[in-house]
This record gives sequence, C-alpha cells and structure tokens, in this order.
Amino acid sequence: MVNIPQPGPDRRSILRGAALASGAIALGGGFTAMGATSAFAETSGTSSAVRAAQPYLYWRGAWNARPPSSPIQVLASAPTYIVVHHTATPNSTDYSLDHALRLSQSIQNFHMDTNGWIDTGQQLTISRGGHVMEGRDRTGEAISAGQHVVGAHVANYNSNAIGIENEGLYTSASPTQALTDSLVETLAWLCGAYGLNPQSAIVGHRDFNATACPGDVLYGMLPDLRNRVAGTMEAYGLPIGQRSVPAEDRPTYPSVPENEPEREFYHGPARGPDDFTR
Ligand SMILES: [Zn+2]
Repeated sequence: MVNIPQPGPDRRSILRGAALASGAIALGGGFTAMGATSAFAETSGTSSAVRAAQPYLYWRGAWNARPPSSPIQVLASAPTYIVVHHTATPNSTDYSLDHALRLSQSIQNFHMDTNGWIDTGQQLTISRGGHVMEGRDRTGEAISAGQHVVGAHVANYNSNAIGIENEGLYTSASPTQALTDSLVETLAWLCGAYGLNPQSAIVGHRDFNATACPGDVLYGMLPDLRNRVAGTMEAYGLPIGQRSVPAEDRPTYPSVPENEPEREFYHGPARGPDDFTR
C-alpha cells in the first residue's frame, strides 16, 4: 500500500512541529541553499519535492552524538546504492524516542570504542518505533546537497553506498510496521535526493558481503519495499532515477555464511581493502 501524502498539514508536518516544540531539529527546509550543488536537485520542481519527501530526522544533536575523531570524508558524487541493514540488537518492544536516541548512542560507542572507527558507521538509523536518526556526521547536509558522506557499513563499497541500520534482528522475526513505514519513507527520500531507481539502488548488506544481514525476513521484504518506495516517490512527484550502474559497481552476491558470529552490533563485514576511511 502506498502512503499517499494529503494536501494541508499532513502527519509529517504535525510530527515535525511537535518535535520542534520538544527541542529537536527538523531537517526539512534547513538546507535549501545547499541543494544547488546537486545537478539532479537543480531540476525544476525536484528539490522542493525532495524536501517534501524528507522524513522527520533526529539530528546528531538530538542523541547527543560524540564528535568524530577525524574529519569526515564527503564525496561530491551521489552514491549508487542504498544498503539496508539490521542492527543485530534485540527486537526491543520499547518504541519510545528515548530508546531510539539511546540506540544511536550505543551504536556510536561500539563503532568508535570497540571497532576504532572515527564515528558511527552508518549514515542513518531507524528504530523499531519508527524514529529516524542521523548517523555519521554531516549526513543530513550531504544528502540535501546530493553528496555522499563516506561511512563504514559495507566492505569495499562504502564510497558508493549509503547505509541504513534498522533496529533489530530479522533472521526470523519481522520488523514493526512503524519501522517498515519509516524505512519506505526514508528510501523514497534518498532515491529522490540522489536520482536513484529503487529497483536497482535498494539492496541488502548480503548483496555485497558474506553476511546474513539484514536477515532472511527483512531481505525477503525488499522486492515489496522497492515497489512501495516507487509508489511513494510517485506520490511526492519524485522522478524515478535512470542512472545506470557501472558493471564494476554491481553487487557480487557472495554466499551467506551458515554460521555468522552472533554478537550484538555485528552484522557482517563493514570495511575492506577498497575503503579509504574508517
Ligand atoms: Zn549489515
């Protein structure tokens, strides 16, 4: 089912207003001046549609993120892929915003203190309550400018893939409706901002690396999610991107290991020899 936006103050505007009142920062409208660097965003009418499609995003300030330990790398070119992950954390039944913000903190602490990365690895995080958080520093501004913050979430493809970590473990359980709906909205916004075609751009972590991530259940939902994203883009007036994917950039479809290490926060290889940042 497609989430058709209605004219007038829609759910997103209401949510945004409520969140602003509670001290959070809305992404929408904040980066109008920066959109001009993206050739795609310059297309008449497209940049306003991209802004309209932005889900409410909790910035790093909302979850009290630590500053990166080294400068973040931002590429002028848009990513080719959007990689869907699970967080390999418990399937929490705490759907509150507080829980979501703590999740972002705990992932960042693990990535920086245990993995030794310069910041949290993924660009975006979605909680089981459907809250969407900015991950790696400068992600929000980069997306709005059609640029790519290089993260650490998919080995050897971090330079051309943006990553979304979805809270939970979906090897046998299903994500919540709230998470699924927010994921569709986030994917539609990213496809619009970067001029991507959801059918070719949206992939699972296992499409690139030897891992079960994002789990059989969430991975099996991807064909339906791609169609829902296309419908959402159509509803927002976002053109489906026609960028072709160079052969060397296409997924390699490695085999899924039978016994993936089960430890919290680990969902497969996140860095490889082709990645120049951590
Ligand atoms: Zn993953």
